[in-house]
Amino acid sequence: MNFHVITLFPDLVASYLSESILARAIKEKKIKVSFYNPRDFVKATKAQKGNDKPYLRVDDKPYGGGPGMIIQAAPVIKAVEAAMKKIKNKKSKIKSTNKKEKVKIVFFSPSGKKFETGYAKEVSKKYTDLILVCGRYEGIDARVKKIFKMEDISIGDYVLTGGEIPAMIMIDSISRQIEGVLGNFDSREEERAASSDVYTRPEVLEYKGKKYKVPKVLLSGNHKAIEDWRLMQNERGTTQN
Ligand code: SAH
Repeated sequence: MNFHVITLFPDLVASYLSESILARAIKEKKIKVSFYNPRDFVKATKAQKGNDKPYLRVDDKPYGGGPGMIIQAAPVIKAVEAAMKKIKNKKSKIKSTNKKEKVKIVFFSPSGKKFETGYAKEVSKKYTDLILVCGRYEGIDARVKKIFKMEDISIGDYVLTGGEIPAMIMIDSISRQIEGVLGNFDSREEERAASSDVYTRPEVLEYKGKKYKVPKVLLSGNHKAIEDWRLMQNERGTTQN
């Protein structure tokens, strides 16, 4: 799976990908993540007073009034085009293998379709390239969505300051659906009876004079009983000792 992230802050996402399971997945070429910064596609305006650096402006005031700034369409369009060009070039290189590139473009928005595991699974099977467009401030000019027929996706009913965390969430949850990314593919929770309450050594934990024991059933060696207990835990969503 190739992820193409359109963001004004690529370092935010790159930092998350630089450690642990996803870093290994990238090293082993199970996934690839590329960045395209809309700021790289604007012309510098003249240096402003008191600042000798030219300014690379990507935002402007909203039509119709209101607070905050909107990211302009043109730099985002150019960044998406750069991603599509990269995908096309790769396609022509691997033509002989007959592998079809299937591209999906996602536009993050707090009011979009809710992202969940079923969607992550479907995407990991259907597509080879995902372009993830991260908004900031008050969002991106809506015409970008129309031009590229993007799908509006929300990661939950709350508003964040940008689309970078949503992009990380999608990369993370889709990657673990790809064989070889998790050390043990069967460790995906959705494929087995997994409880959110998990335990490891020691068997008895002492804290401030009190003893906390591992639930007995987990020490029983009875796999059926353990599985039943885990399923029950999930249904209840509570801790039982
Ligand atoms: N006033 C704007 C807020 C935009 S939040 C509005 O109500 O739409 C800034 C950016 O963060 C958005 O453009 C989007 O890309 C991202 N974002 C914020 N919350 C999100 C969520 N729950 N899911 C997906 N993206 C989100």
